[in-house]
Amino acid sequence: RWDNNGGANWSVAVEVAAREGLVEAPSPAGAATRALTSSLLLRLEALVSRRLLPPEQGALLRMMAWQHDMGLINTFQSVRHLEDTEVAGALAGRCSWLRPPQLNVVHIASEMAPIAKVGGLADVVTSLAKAHQASGLLTEVILPKYDCINYADVHELRPMCEVEVPWGPGAGVRTAVWSGCVEGLPVYLIEPHCKERYFWRGKFYGDGDDGARFAFFCRAALEFLARRQHEAPDVVHCHDWQAAAVAPLLKETYRASVLCRTRLVLTIHNLAFQGLVSGSLLHPMGLAARAGQLLQPEVMHHAGPQGGANMHQATVNLLKGAIVYCDQLTTVSPTYSREVLGPAGGMGLQGVLARHQGKLTGVLNGLDYETWNPSTDPSLPAHYSAEAPAAKRACKAALCAELGLPFTGDLEAAPAASHPHASNGNGNGNGSHDHNGSSSGPSSSGVWGPNGRPLIAIVSRLTEQKGLQLMSAGMRAAVAEGAQVVVLGTAPDPKVQREWEALSREVTRGSDVRIVLRHDEALSHRIFAGSDMLLVPSIFEPCGLTQLIALRYGTIPVVRETGGLADTVADVAHGGAG
Ligand code: ADP
Repeated sequence: RWDNNGGANWSVAVEVAAREGLVEAPSPAGAATRALTSSLLLRLEALVSRRLLPPEQGALLRMMAWQHDMGLINTFQSVRHLEDTEVAGALAGRCSWLRPPQLNVVHIASEMAPIAKVGGLADVVTSLAKAHQASGLLTEVILPKYDCINYADVHELRPMCEVEVPWGPGAGVRTAVWSGCVEGLPVYLIEPHCKERYFWRGKFYGDGDDGARFAFFCRAALEFLARRQHEAPDVVHCHDWQAAAVAPLLKETYRASVLCRTRLVLTIHNLAFQGLVSGSLLHPMGLAARAGQLLQPEVMHHAGPQGGANMHQATVNLLKGAIVYCDQLTTVSPTYSREVLGPAGGMGLQGVLARHQGKLTGVLNGLDYETWNPSTDPSLPAHYSAEAPAAKRACKAALCAELGLPFTGDLEAAPAASHPHASNGNGNGNGSHDHNGSSSGPSSSGVWGPNGRPLIAIVSRLTEQKGLQLMSAGMRAAVAEGAQVVVLGTAPDPKVQREWEALSREVTRGSDVRIVLRHDEALSHRIFAGSDMLLVPSIFEPCGLTQLIALRYGTIPVVRETGGLADTVADVAHGGAG
């Protein structure tokens, strides 16, 4: 049972027969030790694959590192910059007696913050893996090696080994596996050398062959794990449809391999994305021989009662296959785990989810409090905390200056007398207008009074799921009430992006609204810190992270009562904390 928030978040029990009884409370290790340990683990892997250490000795040293053997870690620190042969010699001299190991968990995912982030999936993969690591598990992550990874945040990047990944008839695909440290976690990056250049697209998703790209990634990840010199992982933890093909592959193709006892956890971060692919893909995946069984309606066939008599005409649902094959299934909040069992939330998979309900748990997402910490966040112009919140005001002032918005003071500002220049309602002498062109000076600043008009933020993908209509209606209503609004978002649908670009041109003529249409991690931090409220009007929301970040940054989340929003934001009027 792993937990980062007093029993509220991230608790999932995974049965692992061979290791039952061996999981005990870990000795805590600091962030620096954990990062050094990750680096050591990757180096050991490289030394074994270059035959500079025998596999048995490599396995022993790996376990010592995992147990945070400080003698070994200190030795590594003093020799890590030397040649591989010298490092191997120094580490080999440290082999010693061992305690029984804890679990080895490998996360397989398509995103990981901060190196490959599209949305909350990236945040959760990193923060969950860090929480696992901090609690003593040996935690590793496997990702595609996209060309658009933020390589500045990958430390000690080096080629680890090559594997021949079986993929269709003929020779396999030569695939390089790179290793590196990200946020102190050991990470393996999968780089296929094939003519399709699967991960050389300048973007993470959005091509017609996404299904094939990520099915290949899954096959390659398992091939790498099956060929490693040391013990198989206890748990493979797959995230969303992009990693879903791991499930049928692990349980069918790799069931006679060293991975035969590895257990599989699937976390569904968003059921709206299911990974629909042509049945022909079963061929390169190596599952064609089992097509008759896999294309049954209750297994991987997408829809319709007839099953997939003809593999090439059938549509395979990768996420559905993973739901069927996994050992444990989680969604990212308890409310969402109930919603997915109904027709609206289940999005066609409610039947298969109901059949596998025994494996299903809603585990509330957590937030990485190291990354999201207003008292240390390097993106902020000033630092504050719940205990010393004063500098939040400076963050708001700096944000307004950055965006060219008039700074109106903060919500708790003293009455007008303490701001002698605030008589025009915006505190800096500029008149302000809402986007309909009407004045929003003191007379129209509604309920807010002359000081401290609220700055309301939206930080979101601009998609139907996130409540586009409610966002624009909310913006207009808020501005009419005298509030200011800042939107940071991107729309994957070019039509929606154009609409918001038009809206942005329209509204920024007035002075109370800013719409920034790009992905900007650092600006998002400054917006969370500098705003008074965050609007999250999602139609459905598996968990949602922005409202958690808002809570952490002292910014009031205003949310629709759905999914994880309902689980994490309590209305003061209904008993929530003030
Ligand atoms: P989802 O994963 O459905 O997009 P979440 O609320 O779970 O929604 O997570 C969204 C994550 O992406 C948050 O960390 C949020 O700050 C970030 N984010 C969303 N849009 C942007 C943007 N335009 N620039 C920077 N970060 C963004």
